[in-house]
Amino acid sequence: MTPIKIHNSLSGEVEEFKPIDKPYLIGMYTCGPTVYNYTHIGHLRTYIFEDIFKRVLSKNGYLIEHVMNVTDIGHLSSDSDTGEDKIERQAKKENKTVYQIANFYTKDFLWNLKQLNIDRPNILAPASHYIKDQIKMIKKLEAKGYTYKISDGIYFDTSKIDCYKTLFNQNKDDLKSDDRIENASEKKNPTDFALWKFSPKDEKRQMEWKSPWGIGFPGWHTECVSIATKHLGKYFEVHCGGWDHIPVHHPNEIAQAIGVTGKKLSKYWIHFGFLLQNSEKMSKSTGNFYRIKDVIDQNINPLAYRLFVLNTYYRKTADFSMEAINASNNALNNLYQFAEKIQALKRIKIFKRKLFKNTKQNFIILKNFETDFINAFNDDLNSPKALETLWNMISTVNKDIYSFDPNEVISVLKNFDDILGLKILNHKKPRIPIKIRFLAWKRYILKNQKKFKESDKIRDNILDLGYQINDYQTFYTISKKQ
Ligand code: AMP
Ligand code: ZN
Repeated sequence: MTPIKIHNSLSGEVEEFKPIDKPYLIGMYTCGPTVYNYTHIGHLRTYIFEDIFKRVLSKNGYLIEHVMNVTDIGHLSSDSDTGEDKIERQAKKENKTVYQIANFYTKDFLWNLKQLNIDRPNILAPASHYIKDQIKMIKKLEAKGYTYKISDGIYFDTSKIDCYKTLFNQNKDDLKSDDRIENASEKKNPTDFALWKFSPKDEKRQMEWKSPWGIGFPGWHTECVSIATKHLGKYFEVHCGGWDHIPVHHPNEIAQAIGVTGKKLSKYWIHFGFLLQNSEKMSKSTGNFYRIKDVIDQNINPLAYRLFVLNTYYRKTADFSMEAINASNNALNNLYQFAEKIQALKRIKIFKRKLFKNTKQNFIILKNFETDFINAFNDDLNSPKALETLWNMISTVNKDIYSFDPNEVISVLKNFDDILGLKILNHKKPRIPIKIRFLAWKRYILKNQKKFKESDKIRDNILDLGYQINDYQTFYTISKKQ
């Protein structure tokens, strides 16, 4: 197994992954959902890859402490701290309290994770539960001279952080200040951001708190640093998020972390490419999004979306289309069919041992596939290459299936699925009605008696009823017609 290598957006290079001090414990922070609307499959692309990276770390022997925030406060319609609070706006629209909105969409988010077999974080932290921590952090920044006050809040002075302008190899001198409209004239630098926003004088917000600076609420960039450092310490291994966080949110997190602790919060910063819909980023705010529920409504297994995501390298954009998901659904069914076949062979082997002639050489072939697979994932999460290994393994085994030990093939599939998370060996099998099972059995007997005309007729009859028989040398399986 080769060591893990991963692209670190801080250096702009693919680096060998090495924990900071504790040899086997990894601190991981991932920016979570803003819970004002449904989770869409664009978000899920990022969450799937975060889950994959966790599984890769785990396969390499690491234990992971994973913390994710839930933004239920302070995320304004522009990432540059202007506009309306997204959750307060949605609460007005739906005539509900902000707590009801946050609760409802948090549940939706968790439902989505379950559909896609994404492991939940160890700690899921709603920002509104960490107000005291955020105030404490802003006070520290204030004491160290990083903040200043303007009419709508307390701001972070980004010019005080030497490396700020070039973080993630960007050049912030190119920034135009005209996208920071409302408070541009009062801010010292266009890149400065709100740590604490004052509640508007003419409006009662549903979520607001007292603070040393006046009644208001914390800025969006503040929650992640408070939550992350509270649970994972000053400096931890991994911080992830989508590409959209590279220009604003993540530099602002790092600026605050440097202000408070002198460190850049995390050693590795990993960013995932966008899911596009009609060549544009899929996004809640523009409304051009699909949900996993839409995929399920099309009779597609949600895990087909997981497979679709893994087909494209994480640092590239991926184009969404229902046709592509359909193709992934077919591929997933083929994978399941192969797994069912191998599981059936395992049962058959108990009383038909002589059919099998597994060789030591084939054991080595399987082990080599296993090594290639993990090496592909260890090589900067190269999921397309890992999938290629999976399909190669299946076609090699299929070519001479009785020369492989089904137990060994199952063990390889299990190892692959520990990372892929496609439920290869424990997928929900479609319930085959008793009538179909009976017909299939009858056909099997007739076929063995060489009454091919009658047996073919039953097979066609089964097809008309929406099921297909997959014949193998000494047995058959039944699946839904593809
Ligand atoms: P949000 O709820 O908008 O704050 O986003 C939650 C996570 O999903 C963040 O890490 C975003 O970077 C990521 N994300 C949002 N839209 C997309 C997209 N179209 N493709 C990939 N990741 C996305
Ligand atoms: Zn964040």
